[in-house]
Amino acid sequence: MTASSPRTTPSFPRTSPPTAVGGAVPLPMPKFAAAARSALADTGQRRSLRVAVAAAREREAAAAAELSDWDELRETGRAVGDATLLDLDAHLETLERAVTEAGGTVHWAADADEARAIVTGLVRAAGADEVVKASSATLREIGLTDALADAGVTVHETALADLVVRLGDDEPSHLLSPALHRDRAEIRELFLRNMIMSAPPADADSGSEAGDGTASDDPAALAAAARAHLRERFLRARVGVTGANFLVAETGTLVVLESEGNARMCATLPDTLITVAGIDKVVPTWADMEVFLQLLPRSSSGDRMTPYVASWSGVTPGDGPRAFHLVLLDNGRTRALADEVGRAALRCVRCSACMNVCPVYERTGGRAYGPVHPGPIGAILTPQLRGVDGAAEASLPYASTLCGACADVCPVKIDIPEVLVHLRGLVVESRRRRPVPTPELALMRGLAWTMADPRRHETALRRGTRWARLLSRGGRIRRLPGLLGKWTEARDLPAPPAESFRAWWTRSRT
Ligand code: SF4
Repeated sequence: MTASSPRTTPSFPRTSPPTAVGGAVPLPMPKFAAAARSALADTGQRRSLRVAVAAAREREAAAAAELSDWDELRETGRAVGDATLLDLDAHLETLERAVTEAGGTVHWAADADEARAIVTGLVRAAGADEVVKASSATLREIGLTDALADAGVTVHETALADLVVRLGDDEPSHLLSPALHRDRAEIRELFLRNMIMSAPPADADSGSEAGDGTASDDPAALAAAARAHLRERFLRARVGVTGANFLVAETGTLVVLESEGNARMCATLPDTLITVAGIDKVVPTWADMEVFLQLLPRSSSGDRMTPYVASWSGVTPGDGPRAFHLVLLDNGRTRALADEVGRAALRCVRCSACMNVCPVYERTGGRAYGPVHPGPIGAILTPQLRGVDGAAEASLPYASTLCGACADVCPVKIDIPEVLVHLRGLVVESRRRRPVPTPELALMRGLAWTMADPRRHETALRRGTRWARLLSRGGRIRRLPGLLGKWTEARDLPAPPAESFRAWWTRSRT
């Protein structure tokens, strides 16, 4: 598929007056290095991560190797993604028309504030004081759970991993397995503390088998306890809220791939269904879906097909919800779309393959990347959605060794290192625009001034060498002072020789 007319700044239909680009609500997050430091000190988490990502890597590689045309499929996924983005406004309008014809209602949200207000209003209008919620990074991105809680609405997480994250009051650590950082014993403790499981009888061995709702840490028993906890809520809730993996424009159909079947319950049991999805989730036709339905399962769980593939279009009398609302979210995506290099990140199908091969992610886990998008995709998506002016967002493009393993496995061929380098350039540009320069920028300006003149450079070299040799012990400098100290935090600096190369050159040639 080729794009007919590239549009770098597509028009974006809205219900509210348009802003220049969709803004993003900045959920608080620390700088990557600070967040990574505590993750690195957690040896238990590092062990769990190492085992989990190695197993995922193997499964995904084996699933990809089964298809002789895997690389052609990836290339087609890239081409469909690029062509869709270049004509996104037209596809969004097709989607809106199709959803409306199928009996649904489309809402446009320029940012997270608007999306939260729309969903909260719809829940109130349905007269509901509780909702069942399916797993979705987009719902997390807009902070929906807290917004609904503030509005007096109880949110029931229905995906087991999200339930664990919520009960532990922490952040997801992986796209596919948000509770990857928790082991079975911790999950059992969380379930016991929150009354999702009952304590075992006094005479029972701890860690008993059986999915009878008593406190075993056997995965089947944990899943059974969660299922029993959720079943009653599914039947009671009048509103379900979900995200979507894909939005098929030609038929107005939403597609969700999942392994537990809970999103399907959220989408079919309540009277009102609300789906919030980024505008980047659009796929023009079902023929295009054929490509993504092969790429995504093999790159995420290493399966040939995801256990549950749910799809729905509008409403059908007597079957499923009576009202369906689709909230289309910008929240910084049109800004990313306008960036010719950065827009590649919008092709992402959230498979998580890039995390499983990333040496940085394997050591830090996902929570170091902020509250929503973990791993290499988070390092290129979050700074684009939220802008690079904040210290935390600006730190993310540097959370990489640029080894390129992520680009090698990405099923839609996103060149993550290329986008990272591009974003580093934007970070530097953004720092240059600040009225007060950062210490690093001031240092670089000082160096530039010194090196611009041979005499200044010569004098600085002489003095710097003398000073550095005073700091050295046994030919090494263990700690540099001030800002330079960051360089010696993790390594020693060899002491400079007594005579510089320039001095030696001048001496030996005269
Ligand atoms: S960037 Fe590529 S590999 Fe990473 S989650 Fe997105 S689609 Fe998967």
